[in-house]
Order: sequence, then structure tokens, then C-alpha cells
Amino acid sequence: MVLADLGRRINDAVNENIIKSGGSNVDSDSINLMLKEISNALLESDVNIKLVMKLRERIKKSIDVECEKNKSINKKKLIQKIVFDELCNLVDFETYEENNDNNNNNNDKKKITVFKPKKKQSNVIMFVGLQGSGKTTSCTKLAVYYQRRGFKVGLVCADTFRAGAFDQLKQNATKAKIPYYGSYTETDPVKVSFDGVEKFKKEKFEIIIVDTSGRHRQEEQLFEEMIQISNAVNPQQTIMVLDAAIGQAAESQAKAFKESANFGAIILTKMDGHAKGGGAISAVAATKTPIIFIGTGEHIQDLETFQPRNFISKLLGIGDIQGLMEHVKSLNLDQKDTMKNLSEGKFTLLDFQTQLNNMLKMGPLSKIASMLPGGLGQMLNQAGEEDTTLMIKRMIYIMDSMTKKELASDGRIFIQEPSRIVRVARGSGTSVGEVESVLMQQRAMEGMASNMAGMSRAGGTPPPGI
Ligand code: GDP
Repeated sequence: MVLADLGRRINDAVNENIIKSGGSNVDSDSINLMLKEISNALLESDVNIKLVMKLRERIKKSIDVECEKNKSINKKKLIQKIVFDELCNLVDFETYEENNDNNNNNNDKKKITVFKPKKKQSNVIMFVGLQGSGKTTSCTKLAVYYQRRGFKVGLVCADTFRAGAFDQLKQNATKAKIPYYGSYTETDPVKVSFDGVEKFKKEKFEIIIVDTSGRHRQEEQLFEEMIQISNAVNPQQTIMVLDAAIGQAAESQAKAFKESANFGAIILTKMDGHAKGGGAISAVAATKTPIIFIGTGEHIQDLETFQPRNFISKLLGIGDIQGLMEHVKSLNLDQKDTMKNLSEGKFTLLDFQTQLNNMLKMGPLSKIASMLPGGLGQMLNQAGEEDTTLMIKRMIYIMDSMTKKELASDGRIFIQEPSRIVRVARGSGTSVGEVESVLMQQRAMEGMASNMAGMSRAGGTPPPGI
């Protein structure tokens, strides 16, 4: 089961068994059914069975504890929140370990020191992973990521095993305008990596990324080589590159690499494809190592920082409105009014239209679409780039056909005057269903905006919107 289907199945399990169940109370049969369906979906996505069983127990226990603590609480909302939080814990090593120990004291939480390269000194980052996992591609992506943040970055190709590895890195680096080092004649990867790192250190490079060789399988020789390279270049951070499509084998692979390379972070690649992803999630838990980035395509800009809550939000089709706003902000688009409205927990139809217009300027659209909540995100995500653009344009036409008063409203104005929906559909050359879908999406965004504003007033993180 691919990740998008997994999200849909989990959502359905919660919605069908809990949210849509009659009355305000939820009986234990419904909870058990929901848990069974969530577990099956995770297992079909290759998440390790032990991990699934633990998750199931933790959700059940949390529901019991929380409901006991607060008898008047809205049980449906609470269950939604618990499922969301526990799914986050699955991919958030820090919290995972805390829960694993059944220890709820935040002070005892094992802290992970996130690697932050320092300016004006040489930071060495070593990449490890099997051949084909996306190591060389990810090295270049990370180099570009740091270069854009003002670091002086160099790439070293220590893969003397695979013919053509140096050429590949050279090609990627040239395209990205990143200085590189490698050798066609030297066969000792330890020497090449040492020489490359020394050269870049002398030239005051701030980030030196070393791409090591992979093999088709985990082999003694490969691990021995990794240890020697690591000793020679003394990296501040070692990153393991893991192919999200690898399935159940991910766990043993990651464990084997952890034993010899002791990597401190994971980059999960090919998250754009038809990856099940569950194997990779199990690998994260087994090695207790955080994912720091995900690869979402073959191009050098297809690298996203990994945030557990945002990832689960996207997985469940809730959207990542914060990520979207940050992205828009970084593009310096016209945002003032929307930002003001958002800070007040509002999101009008005009805000929605402005955002869609901005999206057309941002591209690639299918990626942006995944940040949108609800059905729209999923719908756009499934469509190709061209179809996505067309869909967004139709939504903009719909709002073009609305009056100023309607645009400035929260959309509820149409409930009082449903005939306007028909008029807008006719005026924009679209269907009534499409207009209704725009109104639904705007309402979902407004709900999130109101949640975000509420939480920031209360000083906490936004609650999940499932
Ligand atoms: P290496 O052998 O580990 O260095 O792997 P490469 O960097 O050569 O990547 C193997 C293949 O995977 C290449 O065709 C890459 O373009 C592709 N690839 C790497 N990362 C991603 C990703 O995030 N998404 C997709 N779709 N392809 C990727």
C-alpha cells in the first residue's frame, strides 16, 4: 500500500468507526475496530509488526488514561488527537523513545543534538547507504541546500568502487555549481576522501560532503571501508540514505549500517514515488535515529526538511498549512492581508483565491498541493502537473465570478443564498459541485487558521485537524 493510501485508510478507520458513530459516546467495540483497521493498514504498508502492536497498545492506553482523567471531554476529538499524536511518535524518534520507556517525564526525554554546521569552520558530512538508494543525488541536494543558506560547500566523491560514480557526482555538482573533488586514477577510497577533505579544508570550505561507495548488498568489505573513511575524515555528521521503497528490509539494513557507521541522521529518498514507506518508518524506530530530510524527486531542489507533525498531517490529508505559508513567505509574494487574517483566525474566499494565484507562481504545483488540507490536497496530489494547474485555474475562475462581498466573506453567505452557487458555476463555466468544493476547502482552511490562531494565543503547537 502506498503512503497516500495508508493515510486514507487511517483517516477512514477513525472517521467511520469514531467520528461518524452515533451519540457523543464511543464504545470499546468501535475503538477496537478502529485500532484493527489502523493496524492492518500499517502492516500492509510494511511497518514492522512489533511496532504496530506497540502503537496499538499505546493508542488504547492513552484513550483509557485520558478519558478517565477527563470524563466530560469530547471523546471523538480526543481519540482523533491521540491517533494523530501516536502516529507522529512513530516517525519522531525523540518522543518514540520516551514513550517506549513508558516515561512521561519530559525532563527524562533523550535529547538529540541536531547538527548545526558552524560558519567559518569546516564541517564534514559523510554519506552512507546502499547503491541505488539515492546517495549521490542526495549529496548534491544537501550541498545545494547549504549553499543557498550562504555556506561555502564542496563535494568529495569517495566512491571508487562503482565505475562512473565520479562522473555522476561531477555532472550533478557542475549543474548545481558546487566545487567537487574526485579521482579517476586513485583506487583507494580512504585516500581520495582524505585528500578531498584536506583540500577543501585548506581552501576554507565550510561544508564538505563526502559521498562514499555503496554495494548492492551489505558486505563486510563495505562496512570496513566506511569505518576507515570515517576515521580518515572525522565527520561531524554521518547521514544514512534510505530508499523509502525498500520495504521490510529497511530495518535490518539500517541496523547493520548503524553498527559500523553509527550514523546520526537519515535522509529518506524517493518519497515522491509509490513507496510504501512503512519499512523506512520501522528503520527509524529500530535505530532510534531521526529523519532529517526527505527526497521528493530526482531534481536538486527536491529535498524537504522533515517535520514529524507536518509529515503525518500531509499523510492524513490534513495539509501542512504552516509549511505552505512559510514557503509562500520565502517567495515574497503579496501576503499582507492573508497574514493579518490568519493571525486573527480568519481565512476568507479572497485569501483562498490569493493563495491559489500565488501557487501558480510557485510551482511545482503537485508538491504544493500536498500541503493543502482535506480532499483538495489529495485530489490535486493524485493529478499530474498539467491537471493540477488546470484545477487551480478553474478554482480561481470560480472566485472571479463571485462578488466582492462574497469574496470578503467566510463563505457562509452562500448557505443563505444557494442560488448564487448556481450563478457562480454558470458564470465561471464550471459546475455546482466544483463551486461547493471550493467553499468546502475554504472552510477547511479557515478551520485550520482558527486552530492556529487559537493555539498561538494559548502559546502551544497547533492541534491536529483530522
Ligand atoms: P546512489 O547509488 O545511492 O548514489 O544513488 P543515486 O543518487 O545514483 O540514485 C539512484 C537513482 O535514484 C537515480 O536515478 C536518482 O535520480 C534516483 N533518485 C534519488 N533520489 C530520488 C528521489 O528522492 N526521488 C526519485 N524519484 N528518485 C530519486
